[in-house]
Amino acid sequence: MEKLLVIDLTEKSYKVENIDPEMARGYIGGSGLSARLLYDRIKLDIDPLGPENPLMFMTGPLVGTSMPSAGRCAVSARSPLTGFWGESNTGGFIGPEMRFAGFDGVLINGRADKPCWVSVLDNKVKFHDAAPLWGQDTYQTQDSIKEILADPKARVACIGPAGENLVKMAAIVNDHGRAAGRTGMGAVMGSKNLKAIAFRGSGKVHLADPAGYKEVVGEILQTVKDDLSAQAFQLAGTSGYVDMATMFGDMPAGYYQVGEWEESSNLSGILLAEEHLIRGTSCYRCPIVCGRETRTVKYKVDKVDGPEYETIASFGSLALVDDLEGVIYAGHLCNVYGLDTISTGSTIAMVCDLFDKGILDAEQTGGLEIRFGDVEMSHRLIEMTAKREGFGKLIAEGSAALAAHYGVPEMAATVRNLEIPMHDARSFSGMAPVYALSPRGACHLQGDMYGVDLGMAPATELGIHPGERFENSLEKGQTTARSQSWRSVYNALTVCHFMNPGASKIQRALNAATGWDYSLDELMLSGKRIFSLKRIINHNLGSTIEDDRLPEFMLKGFSTGGYARF
Ligand code: SF4
Repeated sequence: MEKLLVIDLTEKSYKVENIDPEMARGYIGGSGLSARLLYDRIKLDIDPLGPENPLMFMTGPLVGTSMPSAGRCAVSARSPLTGFWGESNTGGFIGPEMRFAGFDGVLINGRADKPCWVSVLDNKVKFHDAAPLWGQDTYQTQDSIKEILADPKARVACIGPAGENLVKMAAIVNDHGRAAGRTGMGAVMGSKNLKAIAFRGSGKVHLADPAGYKEVVGEILQTVKDDLSAQAFQLAGTSGYVDMATMFGDMPAGYYQVGEWEESSNLSGILLAEEHLIRGTSCYRCPIVCGRETRTVKYKVDKVDGPEYETIASFGSLALVDDLEGVIYAGHLCNVYGLDTISTGSTIAMVCDLFDKGILDAEQTGGLEIRFGDVEMSHRLIEMTAKREGFGKLIAEGSAALAAHYGVPEMAATVRNLEIPMHDARSFSGMAPVYALSPRGACHLQGDMYGVDLGMAPATELGIHPGERFENSLEKGQTTARSQSWRSVYNALTVCHFMNPGASKIQRALNAATGWDYSLDELMLSGKRIFSLKRIINHNLGSTIEDDRLPEFMLKGFSTGGYARF
């Protein structure tokens, strides 16, 4: 669309900027182009929760076209959780709808003097009073706005109570339970007094070479349909990975300190499918349909979005909880309040560990005994965190801040202050440099070496091929670096990481959509450029080589479990 919508909430004004074509070509879109735009605008000493921190929603050049699994949207700003470069990524339909409304991205500056929400309907931007919506959860907010707009097909990205209360791990939620969860983008939105932004459009995405695009998209669609990993995700969702992850020791247990935990089989995707599944759900034009809609009779919720693998591990094995319904409900509460399930689950599991080791006791938590295996306590803590009540105030600051508060920073499973996702780097060595170097902190979307080594995400034309999972060679490091560059391209295109038709087909689709003439080498160079720029932003914000490491306790191996089995 070549247009960026720039909103100033302080002035309640907006302008439309043309996106510089050279810049677009160099940084592609998504979090790549956002990094470049933010690099040019961000001052080094800004408060992440201050009005001067720009919040950016950005799509990519394939979004809203016939390309499968290309409907994602990146959300970026300086992170209030980590203090460094922040980015998150959501699926659903919000990205395509933004483009249909006329824009590739939206950059939001300033702070409204009172709660507001913004509608963007076919190029028309309107500011609305959000006082009646303030305090509503994310589902209520989406329903309320669709009702106000009298349009059930409007796409709404919003915050819940957690974002309003500036909880550092607050998410932005859209399309029911899709979420830009990581790095606290919901808190940035809350700090701007922005409850929601809604899109609806009737525009079309222009293609430079429609016939060439149609041809390559047809090939991609067939490759995705034939792909075994995609078929597995369709059958069982990401939860289908639980059993395989357990077998390989990839799914962490007992806050990364238990090598073998057989009870994880009670959390399996098969059980989820047999006992709780309603149906699979998908993002815009995605044939993989990895989303799950489930129910929990025990907690009387008829419709839950998820849980994803990451949620099951965060509230399940990491906290030694094997009550699947309890985990489903924990994920649901996070969706309702607008919280990142990885950071929330991981911080609660860390508190369990601090209790276990006698560093914390009930006197310090307002009388709460926070122990491994107690999912009802997790439910209570989720609510307290979202509302910043009692001990929830400390959880709301995230694992790194909480551990530092009690004088044990080394006990937080974080890199660059971001909680580590649910793939144990001891079981797939390539994940260690991925976590250590990823610009947003520990991140499984900036290089998925567990997937590469399992044969789920190879890009052989680029030298990204499956290898031995414990390998510790220079070649492994080079493969990992290539994977990081390639996933930087994906995050700039805002296409889903589960759609892997091969690099040359992606390159052809990009060139046909845009009229650019990218070679594969040049595309990888763009990935490196984007990755490096985000790290330069971090460097300017005070990050050093000392931050490029995993916590010491996560470098110790196990004598049992998937790590030791092979
Ligand atoms: S694979 Fe899943 S997350 Fe990815 S686009 Fe499809 S439905 Fe969305």
